[in-house]
Amino acid sequence: MEPILKIRGLFKRFEPGPWVIDDFDLSIAAGSVVYVLGPSGCGKTTLLRLVCGFESPDAGEIVKEGEVISRPGLVLPPEARRIGMVFQDYALFPHLTVAQNVRFGLEGGRGPLGLFGRRRWGSGEPNGYGRSLNELYDLTGLHGLQERYPHELSGGQQQRVALARALARAPDLILLDEPFSNLDTSLRARIREELRTVLRQSGATSLLVTHDQEEAINLGDRIAVMNEGRLEQAGTPEDILHRPANRLVASFVGLSEFIPGRVDGDLVVTELGSHPLPPGLSAPNGTRLDVQLRPSYVQPCENGQGAAAQVVGLEFQGAQTLYKLALPSGTHIRASLPGHLTLSPGDQVQIRFHPPVMVCFPAT
Ligand code: ATP
Repeated sequence: MEPILKIRGLFKRFEPGPWVIDDFDLSIAAGSVVYVLGPSGCGKTTLLRLVCGFESPDAGEIVKEGEVISRPGLVLPPEARRIGMVFQDYALFPHLTVAQNVRFGLEGGRGPLGLFGRRRWGSGEPNGYGRSLNELYDLTGLHGLQERYPHELSGGQQQRVALARALARAPDLILLDEPFSNLDTSLRARIREELRTVLRQSGATSLLVTHDQEEAINLGDRIAVMNEGRLEQAGTPEDILHRPANRLVASFVGLSEFIPGRVDGDLVVTELGSHPLPPGLSAPNGTRLDVQLRPSYVQPCENGQGAAAQVVGLEFQGAQTLYKLALPSGTHIRASLPGHLTLSPGDQVQIRFHPPVMVCFPAT
């Protein structure tokens, strides 16, 4: 299927600084939920602002449904893009109530969000807003707050109004910049699941920016990992977790460390045991590799099956405990082990390494 959005060779800088977006390419399939993940300051918000039409690129282009909407010298205005955006700072109308702010989206008024979708959200017809609004208020937990003004709401509530307003008019593409950052943990879990369902039902494509790796891994169809304005890797959550393109992606997503390994035939030998080389990788005997280790890959085992590690620290995490362990070589790793083990600093524990997939990079 033709992607709904193609970003090709995009560059952006704020003079006289460095490139904030640096030769960035990304294709987004219609109806998908795509997360942009990356460290603070890597250019995520700037990327959304370029897609939305609030910034113009220095080079490259953005194509939506076959039409160039941005390139140097041509920037289709935000209101002509049929793209909705929920900003980190909400951008609500202070003089309008919650109901008026949300209704603004349904009625397609003009304003700073540029919500000018072709279809209405849900099944609400022009005189059937009640149902659509009720659904939106249910989804976003805004019932009872409709007559309040933004200054009478908490930050999280304001964010939910912005979300409801952006969803109200079912844009083709909805951009969300850290949409859940001000919601408490339980509301965040509920609303993000529901949002995903609604986004799917409405057929909208969504591009979300987050620092929250867990959210991206659990909810994204695809994840684009960004660093210093560049795309490091775009793929499914499984690709990113199990087939990281480079060490940076491997280290950025989830807790991850590397232990030294050495090629021996078709095996990688580490101090925590030997494992088959990753498919497609072959190297001469003795080649030194760094082998990725996540805390969940470590298991306790019987004496003689793995290596004896010494506990140097621990952090309780419910059913599991995250231990900091020193391997016989002195290498420190983190291991997520069952809470019932009740180990203390100084204790010895026999462990082995059981990765679902082997990820290796040339030794540094
Ligand atoms: P965060 O996750 O902290 O929100 P981000 O990944 O969204 O960060 P951006 O807000 O896109 O990052 O900023 C990327 C870089 O561009 C930063 O160094 C920022 O200071 C710079 N920048 C962004 N907007 C402007 C601007 N209007 N003028 C000058 N520099 C800017």
